[in-house]
Amino acid sequence: MKRRACIIGAGPNGLAAAIVLAQASLEIDVFEAEPTAGGAARTLELTLPGFRHDFGSAVYPLGAGSPFFMSLPLSEHGLEWIHSPAPVAHPLDDGTAVVLERELAEAKRSLGEDGKVWGDLVQPFVDRWWDFASDVLRPVSLIPKHPVLMARFGVNALRSARTIASRFRNERTRALFAGLAAHSSLGLDEALSGAFGMLMAIPAHAVGWPIPRGGAQSLTEALCGHLGKLGGKISTSSRLEHIEQLSDYELQMFDVTPRQLLAMAGERFTQRFKLELRRFRYGPGVFKVDYALSNPIPWRASECLRAATVHLGGSFEEVAASERAVRAGSHSERPFVLLVQPSLFDPSRAPAGKHTAWVYCHVPNGSTRDMLPMVESQIERFAPGFSDCVLARRVFSPADMETKDANLVGGDIGGGALDVRQFLFRPTRRRYATSAPGIYLCSSSTPPGGGVHGMCGFHAAGAALASFS
Ligand SMILES: Cc1cc2nc3c(=O)[nH]c(=O)nc-3n(C[C@H](O)[C@H](O)[C@H](O)COP(=O)(O)OP(=O)(O)OC[C@H]3O[C@@H](n4cnc5c(N)ncnc54)[C@H](O)[C@@H]3O)c2cc1C
Repeated sequence: MKRRACIIGAGPNGLAAAIVLAQASLEIDVFEAEPTAGGAARTLELTLPGFRHDFGSAVYPLGAGSPFFMSLPLSEHGLEWIHSPAPVAHPLDDGTAVVLERELAEAKRSLGEDGKVWGDLVQPFVDRWWDFASDVLRPVSLIPKHPVLMARFGVNALRSARTIASRFRNERTRALFAGLAAHSSLGLDEALSGAFGMLMAIPAHAVGWPIPRGGAQSLTEALCGHLGKLGGKISTSSRLEHIEQLSDYELQMFDVTPRQLLAMAGERFTQRFKLELRRFRYGPGVFKVDYALSNPIPWRASECLRAATVHLGGSFEEVAASERAVRAGSHSERPFVLLVQPSLFDPSRAPAGKHTAWVYCHVPNGSTRDMLPMVESQIERFAPGFSDCVLARRVFSPADMETKDANLVGGDIGGGALDVRQFLFRPTRRRYATSAPGIYLCSSSTPPGGGVHGMCGFHAAGAALASFS
């Protein structure tokens, strides 16, 4: 008799866990609440017919750079990465943009007087990306696989983005680094925010910041296709309400966050473990807008047309002020806005000659404030005439995000705050395990945290398999 395991949630981490368990010859059933698999890696017609928008994630430095995804034959299941000529652009008020080039040598040249400092910061990790990724995309360990490399990273790991950016002479480079670090949802004066900036910069040179042809759904379909080949089954529109529904399985893996796990399975856990799960803290939410556009975005700095991702926030100080406001529980009037323009590089996303754009800004968790005017004024600031290109828009408040994916608690896209405590012990000291045998967490609320890399699911399944032997 084959051992049976179930996975609750078909996000990238649930699918990764399912694949690892299926590779170990377990019989796998995945139950997904939504009509389509993928969680925050889905592509949907959110505005007008023919315009295909990424509901959640859109750009995949850690997907292309994931040691686990790399080990799978995802291209045989249709996954094709598209690289825009440059990974990211950061326009400024003088009508120019700082562009991060993919080739490190070119990036160093284009960053001028800061090129050497940039190179010194990232080069060792770019050169050894796969060694670095195998250590950084796993639970923090006192005994890393590559101790010298990780010791070198550790020197910067706890530093704030401000401390690291202070090494740059040019305000343009500082602004670029602020945009990278602000992906963390941390304040730029907080510990770890600098490491996060580096964790965005390093793969930009090592593996790029690609988008999948056809959108996030193509990555999900490739994972589902491979799982299917291994014999795993996925049932969509199957929301689990209570763990009692899973009595047929000796292993239960939850691609959900601690709050949901408590609601579904709380009575199986010790009082102490329940208390630990209740202490888990969620991070800021996002306010997101998807656009159907008649034209490419009319950037003042035409260099922005070379990058799929564009960071809108101006100077380091402005980006820092925006993120500081959110961390203090308020809203920025000039929010830092992350924008992706996939159809410039992948025509399959929109009808011929038309375009899509994906934007969000951080807001306090559960915020109900309408940020649309502030978001659009930031876009207009760097692309005057943008609003004339808008054919349709779809706005997602944090609550709307959570309605489409229950893991996005209060609009938190990272599966929980990534502060120092939750970086070290995520979500508890047990990490993937719970106080109940056979019940595991595998979502981005476990190490290494948010992002589409599947490494939470990969390590969670490994921990579960280890408990069998
Ligand atoms: C707006 C946004 C932008 C992002 N941008 C990027 C990006 O560009 N690049 C990047 O790498 N990452 C990005 N992320 C983060 C990334 O998408 C997540 O970290 C990643 O999807 C986490 O994967 P997961 O499997 O842990 O959870 P999810 O992707 O959230 O999947 C969880 C799944 O579990 C299902 N589920 C929940 N409860 C139940 C239940 N009771 N029964 C059955 N099923 C259930 C949900 O429906 C969902 O399908 C973004 C996320 C969002 C929302």
